[in-house]
Amino acid sequence: MKQQTFLSFKKNLKNQRVTLVVVSKKRTLSQIKQLYSWGQKIFGENRVQELCLKQSQLPSDIEWHMIGTLQKNKVKYIAPFISLIHSVDSFRLLEEINKQAEKNNRVIPCLLQVKLSPEKSKHGFEEKELFSHLCKENVSAFASVSIQGVMGMASFSDDEHVIKAECAQLKNIFEKLKKKIFKSSNFTSISMGMSGDYRLAIEEGSTMVRIGSLIFE
Ligand SMILES: *Cc1c(COP(=O)(O)O)cnc(C)c1O
Repeated sequence: MKQQTFLSFKKNLKNQRVTLVVVSKKRTLSQIKQLYSWGQKIFGENRVQELCLKQSQLPSDIEWHMIGTLQKNKVKYIAPFISLIHSVDSFRLLEEINKQAEKNNRVIPCLLQVKLSPEKSKHGFEEKELFSHLCKENVSAFASVSIQGVMGMASFSDDEHVIKAECAQLKNIFEKLKKKIFKSSNFTSISMGMSGDYRLAIEEGSTMVRIGSLIFE
């Protein structure tokens, strides 16, 4: 994308109250620096090693988001600086994030990743699992994580109906969680939508889109 295109793309999202996470996985430091010079401060990565390397070499006011599958034993590497973990897909992972956040004397913002698509590659909680395991009591046990919403990935499909239905499902789960468990004003984020489906995702209530290829290619 050229600078002007990027700026109007971003402004357009802002007008719809949608936060843009620029997905910078596999992109070079200089590609990221260019977006940064255009005013972009939020970048998403899906691998811990690459994320840590980039974080150490780029401006410290960048907000780094972890969007990929996260192994428990790697939480410690990102705990000191990560701004938001989109990909919390188990309670054991949440426990580990809580532990590492405590060690670093900070609270780590997290989203619960929900499995929307039957595709094997898509991780996340099953809806049933969330409601059977989560209650106000055990949520408050995690004092060093701040659960701010949900994240999901729709199927890679040409069928708009499939994508829309999956996005609507995530919005519905978000509303139920907010009503039953997370009444706090912090529970506000629905991270859904990528280069191929962000328009549909926004129509279905996304508040945060994760976009890579559309911007860099
Ligand atoms: C790569 C990735 C994206 C961005 O995908 P694009 O199609 O390049 O926009 C979004 N979310 C996750 C979890 C990803 O891994």
